[in-house]
Formats: sequence, C-alpha cells, structure tokens
Amino acid sequence: MSIYDQRPWLARYDQGQPHDIEVEFGSVLDMFGACVRRDPGAPIIRYFDGALTRGEVDELSGAFAAGLADAGFAAGERVALFLQNVPQFIIAMLGTWKAGGIAVAVNPMNKERELDLILRDCGAAVLVCLEDLYQDVAAKVIGGSSVKLVVTTSALEYQTRTDDRILGRIGRISCDGTLDMATLMGRYRGQQPPGPALGPDDVAFLTYTSGTTGPPKGAMTTHRNVVFNAQTYRDWIGIGPADVILGVAPLFHITGSIGHVALSLLTGASVVLTYRFDPAVAIETIRDHRVTFTVGSITVFIALMNVPDAARDALATLTKIYSGGAPIPPSTVAAFQNTFGHYIHNIYGLTETTSPSHAVPLGSAAPVDRVSGALSVGVPVYSTIVRIVDEENRDLPPGEIGELVTEGPQVVAGYWNKPEETARALPGGALHTGDVGYMDDRGWFYLVDRKKDQINVGGYKVWPREVEDVLYEHEAVREAAVVGVPDPYRGETVKAYVSLKPGVTATVEELAAHCKQRLAAYKYPRQVEIIDELPKTVTGKILRRELRARARGQAG
Ligand code: AMP
Repeated sequence: MSIYDQRPWLARYDQGQPHDIEVEFGSVLDMFGACVRRDPGAPIIRYFDGALTRGEVDELSGAFAAGLADAGFAAGERVALFLQNVPQFIIAMLGTWKAGGIAVAVNPMNKERELDLILRDCGAAVLVCLEDLYQDVAAKVIGGSSVKLVVTTSALEYQTRTDDRILGRIGRISCDGTLDMATLMGRYRGQQPPGPALGPDDVAFLTYTSGTTGPPKGAMTTHRNVVFNAQTYRDWIGIGPADVILGVAPLFHITGSIGHVALSLLTGASVVLTYRFDPAVAIETIRDHRVTFTVGSITVFIALMNVPDAARDALATLTKIYSGGAPIPPSTVAAFQNTFGHYIHNIYGLTETTSPSHAVPLGSAAPVDRVSGALSVGVPVYSTIVRIVDEENRDLPPGEIGELVTEGPQVVAGYWNKPEETARALPGGALHTGDVGYMDDRGWFYLVDRKKDQINVGGYKVWPREVEDVLYEHEAVREAAVVGVPDPYRGETVKAYVSLKPGVTATVEELAAHCKQRLAAYKYPRQVEIIDELPKTVTGKILRRELRARARGQAG
C-alpha cells in the first residue's frame, strides 16, 4: 500500500514529487564518492577564510582512515569525535567510515563526568579531540576508558585568521601522549585503505541522548537513515550544488550531522562552519559566503534578530530557512519576517528519526492551532507514516490528541547495547516519540504536550533525572526534583527544588555551582529553591508535576 493510499491528503503537499522515495545509495561513503566524482575541484567545506574541495576532503579522510588502520583499528570499532564545528569533524567522520568504523559525536560542552559515561558506553577505541578539550576535559578521563589512541587537532587549522572574535581566543596547546591529526594525515597522504564495504544497515553514528532512567543511550543511526534524510532535505527544500549551507546547529546533534553535513556530502552544496554559533559572525558569514540555506533551533533566529544594527537585507541570500528542535512561537516567525523579510519554516523530528519526520513544505506557511497557539510542525516527509495513538496504542482520528508514533526509513535501528530500551521505545521498529499532539483534517500536525520528562532548553535536551543525580552527590542534599520553567529566550530553563538533610546547611549558589562543575552549561539549574519538604504521593513518589505547576505559578 503506498503512502498516497494511506494519507490521501498528502497529495496537497506533494509539489509534483512522489511520496515514496528510493534510498539512492548503499552508504554515506557511496553517496559522497558520487559527489566527489561529479566535481572533485568544487569547494565543499568553508571555514572562516579557508576552503576545502570535495577532492581534498576525500584525500584527507582517506589518509585519516589509513592512519587508523595502521594503528590497529578494526571494522566496527568506535571513534568518538569531541569537536566543535570544525572541518576535522567531517574529515574524521568520513575517515572513520572508510576504516569500517562507527562515528560517535560527543557534545563539546560535556564535562568529564558526561564524556566518561559516553566513552564507557560506546567502548570507543579512538578519540578525536580539540586540543583545549583534551587539556581541560578528556585528559582526565581517558585513562579509565577503552580509548587506545587519542588524536588531537587545532581549531586554527584550515584557515588563516587569528584576530577573529571566535578564533582570536584560541592558541595551540601541545598534548602529550596524543597524535596530531594533521601530522597523522600527512604521513598517510594519498592513501585510501580498501576498508570493508559498508551497507545500508551498518551503523554510521551513535548519537547520545539521555533518558528518564540510567546512563545515556546511543541511538544507532544507520547509513540508510543518513542517506534517506539527506535526500529528504535535498528534495523537500530543493537544495543543489549551488546552494550554500550555514552550519548554525552543532554538528554533534542530529540536526547538524544531517541538515548540514550529510546534505552537503549528498548535493555538493558547500557547508560553512564557524567553530560555534555567534550571531554577529553568522550575519557576516551569510553576507560573505552568500549563504542560501540553514536549519537551527529558534534561539538562533532570535539571536540574529538581536544583533545590533543588522540591516534588513543582511540575510538577502538566505531564502531557505528551517527551524526545529524546540517549539517555535508564531510571534517569533512574524517578528523575523518583519526584520529580515524571510519566513521560518518549521521542521520536526528527533535524534531517533535522524532529523526530520515532519516539515513544512518550502513556500507554505504553517497553520496555528487556535486553542493551544502551537505552530504546526508540518506534514510527514516522504515515505513516513505517523500515527496518533492513545494509551492503548489505538489509532486516533484527526483532531484527537495522543502520542506521535513514527515509522519510516529514517527511524533508527535502536540503542547501542540496550535491547530493553530499544524494545520499549521502538516496538516493532515504530518510534514512540513521547511527543503529544494531533493531526488536523488537512494533515498538518501540531505538538501540544510531552509525555516524557525532558526539558527543552532552546533545542538542547535536559533529563531531570541526570541533574537530580548530580544534586544527590552533594552531601547536604536530602531530596531533589528538577523541572522545566518558562524562559523568554530559551523556551524553557532548568529549575531545581531541593530539601536539605537535618542539621546541614548549603546555599542555593553552592548547589548551583556544584552542578555547573559537573554538567554541560545548558543543564545546570539556573534557579535553585530550597524547601522543607518536596510534595509527594501517598506512596512517597516526588510529585514533579506539582512542582512544575508551582514553578510556572511563581514565574507568573
Ligand atoms: P532531539 O532528540 O534532541 O532532536 O530532540 C527531539 C525532541 O525535540 C522532540 O521529541 C520534540 O520534543 C522536540 N522538537 C523537535 N523539533 C521540534 C519542533 N519543530 N517543535 C517543537 N518541538 C520540537
């Protein structure tokens, strides 16, 4: 049965394209190989004032792979990438696949505790890491991990600027006991190891997400998942080799890996990287590189509007704009259009759907739900079936609210070494998203609530349990509960309610500092409130919902 038969309303959005699309390549390497053959001399990565061609990226990644193979790296082993948005991310990722491995993208904001958990869970054999991240974070954890080889690199490579407002703060650091990535690639220059042929079901990335319980889990994104959703971006938005992509999303997040990197490797559109997002730098970059497309969280677009003296035509070339990862207030879309003259299209998905499961067609304006005020997240993308189900997993008709359950070629294969978590979240391969919403009778989807406890801080996800665990490590804490509270810029921010052990004192500043030291910056509680007793059910379970209501009441 084709998707047309199941969802006849889709015809309205199809813009002349078929709904079931073929996955065109067996692996991301096949996809990139075709791109290189079409035009090896065309620039594909731009980084400040530097550029790398498709052929150069192919050569460098081949040399990296040859170096790995010579160091004893075996097919199926994991390479952790602890990097900002730098060209080495893409080179090392391709090199990992050429050596038959799996790339594990790690958030560069992670502190020792968080990096350690991921390295242990994935059993990484190799760590590729920026020099300062090695010195400040990684050096302290690799001793106890499975990592056999550390490759360090500098953010100053592949460009010549030193006075920049981002790069100006970075210097070279010598990292004892590690191998410099440029030196390694120089040594193996010109080599492309044969490597085992990768197929569509092989795992390309592990992308880590936390959960309600236990340590973080690595979503296994297959080569098919990556190729399919790279095609989705290409065909849904109409991206070709002449487009220029601005990498505003972090590459370790699925939005960056697919909507920036994989899209570029498929189409040859060059991707512009700027180490990290800085709104003033982004405005300059859009002008200098004539950027045409980007996708990022709504905080990116709010920050662009707040750049002082940004001219109305500063984003003149940027005509294809998508935002996902967090709810978008319709008023922000209108304000952005007023400021820069462009419409922000909503796009929705999860790490587990390899970026989009839904998107607003380019050129269409998403409707707004009259009751909740939610902007529609769009319609399901190609070959994707999304059901709205009740607590008993029964399909609900249009207009009724339930959980979104997604099936399609972009749904991941499961979680690394976690069969139980996989069976729970992906029974029979259908992803239970934990997002609650409905479909209207025209086929537009709206999110109105969340079943999961996740806090969404401008697209960065925080699981209360992780912050609570860190709070419990503090000697003064008796009980702790963490909730999301409204925030005008980030949408939500983290608040902790804490009760103290009898006879012990601790200040809220001390508790916040304790968390700040152990958690990535977006996770530590911006607000801490000490109360005598946390509200509980008769069976002693902390009533997080009540605390959330209390916090929202206080926020007015
Ligand atoms: P992640 O795994 O970090 O990509 O987070 C996925 C979650 O982000 C989803 O389950 C949603 O709760 C939220 N999300 C993603 N895109 C959107 C969107 N366009 N609007 C509202 N929430 C979104």
